[in-house]
Amino acid sequence: MNPTSHPDFPVVDSHVHLYPEKIARKVTPALAERFGNAPSFDGTVCGCRAKNVTCGIAASVNLPVATKPDSVEHTNGFWARHAPALMQKEPDGKAPAVVSLACFHPQVADKGAAIERIARAGFTGVKLHPEYQLFGFNDRSMDEAWDAMSAFGIVAYLHAGGERVFRPPFHSSPSDIAELHRRFPRLKIAAAHLGGFGMWDETEEVLAGQDVYLDLSHTFFWMPTGQILRIIRRHGARRILFGSDAPWQDPGEVLEAFLSLPLDEPERRAICCDNACRLLGLFT
Ligand SMILES: [Zn+2]
Repeated sequence: MNPTSHPDFPVVDSHVHLYPEKIARKVTPALAERFGNAPSFDGTVCGCRAKNVTCGIAASVNLPVATKPDSVEHTNGFWARHAPALMQKEPDGKAPAVVSLACFHPQVADKGAAIERIARAGFTGVKLHPEYQLFGFNDRSMDEAWDAMSAFGIVAYLHAGGERVFRPPFHSSPSDIAELHRRFPRLKIAAAHLGGFGMWDETEEVLAGQDVYLDLSHTFFWMPTGQILRIIRRHGARRILFGSDAPWQDPGEVLEAFLSLPLDEPERRAICCDNACRLLGLFT
């Protein structure tokens, strides 16, 4: 991208998927085949940092997905060790280049205790993915987890809506997120893909304007740019997060597409930096 178009503030990519090196060597090529597109880097922390340098991104937030309940503890242990700065301020005031949320799984036993461990390890959010994890946000079996997340201030970072490699009927929608927010008003929610991949008309109807965060991952190049702008305006820039879904989209290309929107500087700054910092505790 054109370096002169870099904004005058640190850009945080709130939605990337990284893997421990050994796993990345297997998982990244396998997922590339499944998604039908080449990754923009190799899926490792090093690869992400190197990519970010080329596209003017200051920090990326990793969203690990647990496909089995018994992988939660060791996956979180890995990220707690390897992103020890997690959400803390570094001495020069810059965000660490890669931070990680925790993973969680709806079939974990004693969900309240598991969320408490996640909070005590220093994570500020957990990623949930209803297609890989086969659950609905309003399944009553999740209520204990939502209660614990609300109590500990842990962000529920949710995959939302359709998925490129899954078939309908999907397990989540913008209406489900609106319902979850109604049932747990203290729960901090960040919903990926503007609240529902491929369900953007529904987002406009039922979710835009609600007190939940929506990210921009997998929206540019997948939906009309005019609708992205309309949702940002209707929802309010204060609750939109810049995210790329790297390595499954190119973060530089997504940033360039974002910067081409006719937004003013405070809106760009809120979406690229301030909102993620406030929600996820960066720079605190
Ligand atoms: Zn994703």
